Amino acid sequence: MGKITGFMEFDRKVEAYAPVEKRIKNYKEFTAPLKEGELKNQGARCMDCGIPFCHSGCPLGNLIPDFNDAVYHGKWEKASQILHATNNFPEFTGRLCPAPCEEACVLGINEDPVSIENIEKNIAETAFKNGWIKPEPPLKRTGKKVGVIGSGPAGLAAAQQLNRAGHNVTVFERDEKIGGLLRYGIPDFKMEKHVIDRRLEIMEKEGIEFKTGVHVGVDLEAAQLKKDFDALVLCGGATVRRNLTIPGSDLKGVVQAMDFLPQNNRKVDGIPFIGEDISAKGKKVIVIGGGDTGSDCIGTSIRHGAVSVINFEIMPKGTTERPEEQPWPFWPMRLRTSTSHKEGAERIFSISTKRFVGDSNGNLKGLITSEVTWEKIPGQRPILKEVEGTEKEWECDLVLLALGFTGSEPTLADQLDLEMDERTNIKGSSLNYQTNIPGVFVAGDQRRGQSLIVWAISEGRQAAHHVDAYLMGKSNLPLKGEGDLPRV
Ligand SMILES: Cc1cc2nc3c(=O)[nH]c(=O)nc-3n(C[C@H](O)[C@H](O)[C@H](O)COP(=O)(O)OP(=O)(O)OC[C@H]3O[C@@H](n4cnc5c(N)ncnc54)[C@H](O)[C@@H]3O)c2cc1C
Repeated sequence: MGKITGFMEFDRKVEAYAPVEKRIKNYKEFTAPLKEGELKNQGARCMDCGIPFCHSGCPLGNLIPDFNDAVYHGKWEKASQILHATNNFPEFTGRLCPAPCEEACVLGINEDPVSIENIEKNIAETAFKNGWIKPEPPLKRTGKKVGVIGSGPAGLAAAQQLNRAGHNVTVFERDEKIGGLLRYGIPDFKMEKHVIDRRLEIMEKEGIEFKTGVHVGVDLEAAQLKKDFDALVLCGGATVRRNLTIPGSDLKGVVQAMDFLPQNNRKVDGIPFIGEDISAKGKKVIVIGGGDTGSDCIGTSIRHGAVSVINFEIMPKGTTERPEEQPWPFWPMRLRTSTSHKEGAERIFSISTKRFVGDSNGNLKGLITSEVTWEKIPGQRPILKEVEGTEKEWECDLVLLALGFTGSEPTLADQLDLEMDERTNIKGSSLNYQTNIPGVFVAGDQRRGQSLIVWAISEGRQAAHHVDAYLMGKSNLPLKGEGDLPRV
């Protein structure tokens, strides 16, 4: 596996980034890929560890040591086959995944882990460049019709798998273009949108039908769709935004991140957007929320030309080390610093916003905060406590609310009589992804709540297997950990 002494010979190396002052002038990706020799050395660092915990760290069960070995030996086409056996879209995860596989890498116990994500991206890019990623239409059609609602990574993965099993698949998307949050959440500087278009071209040639501008439940009754199709897969995401219901939240200048980011992606794409233009140019911006969405607001505001960007996080500042209670190979909750954070945002932790302050015309001009602590009581959730005497006023004229999402929109559940879970996601069995209504399945964020692209692809693939089994009595579509190996 790899080069037996590779991990002792080569240090970890990852892609470099263009300097901040250069990259913030546009919305393009800004990584400088590793050279082929460097990638082979990185593949060589994957040691013969015996039990590759990276497999279980990855929600897709990617066969990581196998593709690392292929890369080390310069067998890029084979590497692409191994990677695609478990992951429909490695060009997305290779750019955007927080790489739980690397946190689970055995080498990571006492060394820097293998740069798995960079290797993955380069396998996908090499495969596209050489024309190895070709449409794989099914040899036979089953005559069964499957409707997929939502075209994010979960819907796309489910659609591709079900089409490969021979079913006639139609994907319904309410937006004007396909891609879900890949297209209208994640900014171009993290992933340029031609990366999605290139994959969609392959999928269209495989025979998948895409219908955009169709809001199921509004333009089309979900119950009608249920009659028209043999099975439905709901992949509509977890789109209900969390609000901050404090005084002044209706002031002009208090804006939801998910109004700001999709609008900007449409501007970059040169397509019209609905609503007022939201610009951070020349403004003092405060982004409330320290997750991925908050980070994307920072990078976008800086590219707009904001005067300053401050990021509030209600949780305390973590350490860059693994917390003791989250030992290897688990995913550790440690301080993560994104490329956007490094572009000039000031980060403030353990802070809570109490009210917004406006001028006489209803425009935002500031906000008031307090410092907070989290009281830990064994066996209970930590309790938020305000620190007395720490009130502070901050000047700002644009606030972006990036507070996360509270679950799935209720429309489809209402129209199809579907049960929701206690976190207001659509309830889908963890065994077969089926809802309480036979023939209606759910996958991705709509089932698990706002999560990660790698989980969405994994859920789409798993659900596809169970939809196929529901329609045909059995399925040869691989489940997690099986790759494309035949099922016994
Ligand atoms: C700003 C932001 C940045 C993120 N960055 C990252 C990142 O860097 N890395 C990472 O791994 N994850 C990231 N995530 C999370 C990740 O994007 C999601 O977990 C993932 O996209 C979920 O995929 P999905 O297919 O379940 O749903 P989505 O991607 O949300 O797609 C759902 C689609 O369904 C459509 N839809 C919904 N209802 C209907 C209906 N009734 N009719 C028709 N269409 C409908 C929606 O328009 C949407 O296009 C980010 C999330 C956000 C918000």
